[in-house]
Amino acid sequence: MDESIRDEIIRCGACRMCFDVCHSYQLYLDERFSPMYRLLIIRKMLDGTPPDKMARRILEDCTLCEGCDGICTEQIPITEAIRTALEELKNPQ
Ligand code: SF4
Ligand code: SF4
Repeated sequence: MDESIRDEIIRCGACRMCFDVCHSYQLYLDERFSPMYRLLIIRKMLDGTPPDKMARRILEDCTLCEGCDGICTEQIPITEAIRTALEELKNPQ
């Protein structure tokens, strides 16, 4: 995965503004299904920790609706990061 994604992800200040717009989070009301937590999973992937079954499910539950991108207070391209991570899972480098 492109290391430049890390520079974007680390800007997350855990403000949780992205929770309300994420229908995946709204469905489960479990913060693991929030955009913010998905970024944490991707950060771990960049550090060399592959997602376990649950983390993979959390990423795959994202519909790539892009709803979180506009609301992010740090303007992190969240959907792009998730899309890249999903591609990495399908086609490991
Ligand atoms: S792109 Fe994914 S993480 Fe972002 S709001 Fe949509 S479902 Fe949630
Ligand atoms: S809105 Fe952006 S900065 Fe705030 S918790 Fe979500 S991803 Fe992090």
